Amino acid sequence: MIILDKVIEVRKEIKTASKNAKTIGLVPTMGFLHDGHLSLIKRAREENDLVVVSIFVNPTQFGPGEDLESYPRNLERDSSLAESAGADIIFAPSVEEIYPNGYNTYVEVEGEMTKKLCGASRPGHFKGVATVVSKLFNIIAPDRAYFGQKDAQQVAVIEQIVRDLNFDIEIVSCPIVREKDGLAMSSRNIYLNEDERKDAVILSQSLFEAEKMIKNGERDPLKLKEFIIKNINTKPNVEIDYVEIVNSKTLEDVKEIKGDVLIALAVKIGRARLIDNICMEVQ
Ligand code: AMP
Repeated sequence: MIILDKVIEVRKEIKTASKNAKTIGLVPTMGFLHDGHLSLIKRAREENDLVVVSIFVNPTQFGPGEDLESYPRNLERDSSLAESAGADIIFAPSVEEIYPNGYNTYVEVEGEMTKKLCGASRPGHFKGVATVVSKLFNIIAPDRAYFGQKDAQQVAVIEQIVRDLNFDIEIVSCPIVREKDGLAMSSRNIYLNEDERKDAVILSQSLFEAEKMIKNGERDPLKLKEFIIKNINTKPNVEIDYVEIVNSKTLEDVKEIKGDVLIALAVKIGRARLIDNICMEVQ
């Protein structure tokens, strides 16, 4: 495995490698890798001849006052984890490499999709994501790119970009990897102290309860939302950002639990803002 930090180098390496490699899989990450990231890398390894993992804490997707500076970073540890999961190339550029002086071009998905859920409390976030992912698609030119269902809205936004900008790339959405007690793995879980970590289980627990209610016949999104909010609010130190029930493909609100349903939520616990969701196909 090799680690590169320059666009020109990674392009050259991919050009050489692609003489033998028929397909290239890309796994974009912000690093501080955990088993969620590694599941994406392993899947990319199974499905492609060459696996590129990008590690870049992208400043344009962080808003003012967010955790850009304190976001955990550890390239050495990430490199050995990525290698053991099957990565061939790590692309870990500097901020200046991706946004050099005079940089002035952004990709923005318009409409409701980027304004609701995480887009409502993080304005500009998806513009940053869309821009950096489009740049990575142009630099690496993968056949497939792997994203986690944990960031369900991100997957929907990227699928929209691929359709709209004619990227010839298959987007592979991978299931959420969880800790034993159900908490969705996240690089930001490191911000939680012992008590907060215990409280954080309420996110997945509420979602799983809601899933059970749907399986038992509940079809009213308002009732489900009310239940989840009430359940989360039993933890006094957990602050809800949003709980929304939408169509998982279009992210439009649903009036009835039917078809592709996404229940997504974001909460603040201490200094961590955590997201989680469940996706279901309901007859
Ligand atoms: P991040 O480094 O948080 O930007 O995440 C990089 C990629 O890993 C994104 O596509 C995430 O959706 C995905 N990812 C993060 N956490 C998980 C998880 N617990 N399970 C599956 N995928 C994840």
